Amino acid sequence: MKNPIGKIVIIGGGFAGLAAAECLSWQQHSHEVTLVDSRETSQFLPLLPDIVGHSLPPDIPGYPLKRAAQRWDFHFQHARVTSLDLLQKCVVTDKGNIPYDGLLIASGTETSFKACETWSKRPLSVDSVDDAVKLRDMAAKDESCHYIVCGGGYTGVELASNLRYFFRQRKSQNQVTIVEHGHHLCGALPRKQVDFIEKAVRQAGIEVKVDTTITELDQDHVRLADGTVISNARVIWAAGVCTAPFVNDLSFSKNRQGRLAVDSFLALDNGIFAAGDAGGFKAGNGELRMSVQFALTQGWHAADNILRYLAGHALRPYRPLDPGWVVPLANGRGCGTILGLEIYGRLPYVLHTLVCMARSVGLTNRLQLARHYWKQGFSGKQ
Ligand SMILES: Cc1cc2nc3c(=O)[nH]c(=O)nc-3n(C[C@H](O)[C@H](O)[C@H](O)COP(=O)(O)OP(=O)(O)OC[C@H]3O[C@@H](n4cnc5c(N)ncnc54)[C@H](O)[C@@H]3O)c2cc1C
Repeated sequence: MKNPIGKIVIIGGGFAGLAAAECLSWQQHSHEVTLVDSRETSQFLPLLPDIVGHSLPPDIPGYPLKRAAQRWDFHFQHARVTSLDLLQKCVVTDKGNIPYDGLLIASGTETSFKACETWSKRPLSVDSVDDAVKLRDMAAKDESCHYIVCGGGYTGVELASNLRYFFRQRKSQNQVTIVEHGHHLCGALPRKQVDFIEKAVRQAGIEVKVDTTITELDQDHVRLADGTVISNARVIWAAGVCTAPFVNDLSFSKNRQGRLAVDSFLALDNGIFAAGDAGGFKAGNGELRMSVQFALTQGWHAADNILRYLAGHALRPYRPLDPGWVVPLANGRGCGTILGLEIYGRLPYVLHTLVCMARSVGLTNRLQLARHYWKQGFSGKQ
């Protein structure tokens, strides 16, 4: 006989939300789980740069949330969360209210356009498969445009690398530049990896402009802080993220990017937890970086703590394990740190492809990805 313990609502069906839903489906409690997402498909964001560079078909990296709901026995509500009513304990959506006893906020982050509010034109961004397809199709049509990726973190570098690789293969005249306001690309990485990335990017024919930023974008002109004006420009903004507006409106304390400051149990308040990019878990002097690895383990952990909370048991602290990271480039090479060891060359790229296969949801997706990478010879080449 199962022990009834209440209604659990998960906001967001990305890595953290789906991990939590899967974990809850294994438990021997009779709880009712509702997952709310404004999208109908869970998206595999780390593969978006490969879609932009035409090396991956756009249908591979998604998993329908309706199918996930059947598989892991939860109710899927296709709706956008607009606010939380903490007094009435309900999630307010554009399709009605959903009451909860335990709540997980796993709504991730999105591109923040705050720095470009005064520009006459909004830059492009890559937050979803639709965005990636739009950019991919544009890149296929353009002949002599200047693609400027603003933000030289790993997302910006991967996007620029894939675009450049695509233009090279098509022998098109389009140029690619990365604009970064810091002194280096991927400045948070160890020095040797920064040097590797900067050398690889320049060798690929990508121009790098550091210590500057974009100050204005109009119809197709870009002005940089150092006075440079670039025409025929297509700007892709990869220079900052923010949380969903409903998270922004919550009175819980947050970090600079608006991520919710969770405690050591991933909790915010009685019965309310946050996992993945929406939450900021303190580690050392800062917070854990936004990554699939931490989103998954936090999703599992938060699900377990919600059940403990509802059953009146003590919560367990979250202890992150960091296996490392890789930065894959479109030429089938990359760099990274795995289990404390720095790696360079083909191995990081191959590891990236294997991890993407292992972490994609559903056997069909995994097999499709495996077939795709096999055809490419795990080389990044089409
Ligand atoms: C281009 C790109 C490349 C990346 N590459 C890597 C990589 O190589 N390795 C790595 O580890 N990480 C990478 N990341 C980061 C990684 O994808 C994130 O850390 C991870 O997706 C976080 O998972 P999440 O579940 O917290 O959020 P997400 O995966 O973003 O899921 C959030 C979900 O919440 C939903 N949602 C948001 N707001 C609402 C609302 N108001 N109402 C209802 N639903 C809502 C969204 O639709 C989405 O489905 C990359 C990210 C990007 C954008």
